[in-house]
Amino acid sequence: MTSVSTFNPPIRTLMGPGPSDVSPRVLEALSRPTIGHLDPRFVEMMEEVKGLLQSAFQTNNTMTMPVSAPGSAGMESCFANLVEPGDKVIVCQNGVFGGRMKENVIRCGGEAVMVEDAWGTVVDPAKVEDALKANPDAKILAFVHAETSTGAQSDAATLCKLAQDHDCMTIVDAVTSLGGTPVLVDEWGVDAIYSGTQKCLSCVPGLSPVSFSDKALDVIKNRESPVQSWFLDLNLVMGYWGSGAQRTYHHTAPVNSLYALHESLRILQEEGLENAWARHEKNHQALKAGLEAMGIGFIVKDGDRLPQLNAVTVPEGVDEAAVRKALLEDFNLEIGAGLGALAGKVWRIGLMGHASNQKNVMLCLSALEAVLGQMKAPISKGVALDAAMAVYA
Ligand SMILES: *Cc1c(COP(=O)(O)O)cnc(C)c1O
Repeated sequence: MTSVSTFNPPIRTLMGPGPSDVSPRVLEALSRPTIGHLDPRFVEMMEEVKGLLQSAFQTNNTMTMPVSAPGSAGMESCFANLVEPGDKVIVCQNGVFGGRMKENVIRCGGEAVMVEDAWGTVVDPAKVEDALKANPDAKILAFVHAETSTGAQSDAATLCKLAQDHDCMTIVDAVTSLGGTPVLVDEWGVDAIYSGTQKCLSCVPGLSPVSFSDKALDVIKNRESPVQSWFLDLNLVMGYWGSGAQRTYHHTAPVNSLYALHESLRILQEEGLENAWARHEKNHQALKAGLEAMGIGFIVKDGDRLPQLNAVTVPEGVDEAAVRKALLEDFNLEIGAGLGALAGKVWRIGLMGHASNQKNVMLCLSALEAVLGQMKAPISKGVALDAAMAVYA
């Protein structure tokens, strides 16, 4: 092999569905010297990470910690630990990620009862209630709070309440919501929830914060069959992360990534959760005003939208991939393509975490207008920036 030079990534602005821009403070923390994953100083920091995650999730659950792998592993951790062969799980699907929940249930030997809603709409509580009534033996209700493939935000409080009324546990996907919109684990009474570090926490990809209620832990400790995944078996992971644990070796924790998570959670704590939610909302309103002035519409109806993930329709006759290519090459700006059923039809513009700011909103609007203008797309020009600025005024 010929000599390979060191890899210097270009400096991009990340406004897709994740990863989002990582703050320099987090990158600096990542580059600090590696120490042992059983070093007493490291263990002290782990305890702080757990506490910071409890406040991010708004929970007192003692079993709150980051799984050493991306959001998909957090998802798998919830299903692998709670679902035993033969268990019935009601799975809500209104986009890509509900489909992955179904896959998880089936691979755990469970039976998935599907509640389906159109892509771009929220999970319908009435359908969920019908499914709970029709399946009194269901053990778990699983749903995606923030469906990143469509930008729809479902009513987690109502769905969790329905599950409790029918004596059913809950698994909630909060990968895109945590840090961007309210996630209230104790108030909602969630039993198992997972998130990711690379969306609204603006940390490097590769970790998945999870939290389990005491009831869920009880179920996991008293399983009839061992958890099929050795790596994700919480009964084993608890020996390292659990409260009062002996910190026995299970796997080598991703030490530096955890420094980064620690710093990103400190940033969230400094800003305050309510302020972070309000910032995401404000920037969403400004982006929306600009896009709508240009003539670009949203696929999710007003009131059901995620401020951190804006799924918008591609104007008539426009090659959506060519637009993304031009944004990346000429403006170092990344936005996301449509997934699954929405491929080719929408763009997904993320305003997540550190990337949710006025500068990015204005950059995105002006770059989009410039690129679409060159392509002679049917948009209104010269109005988007004023419309966005009016929201900030
Ligand atoms: C991104 C995402 C995931 C998967 O997370 P990875 O870190 O990519 O594995 C799961 N669910 C939702 C809703 C997501 O947005």
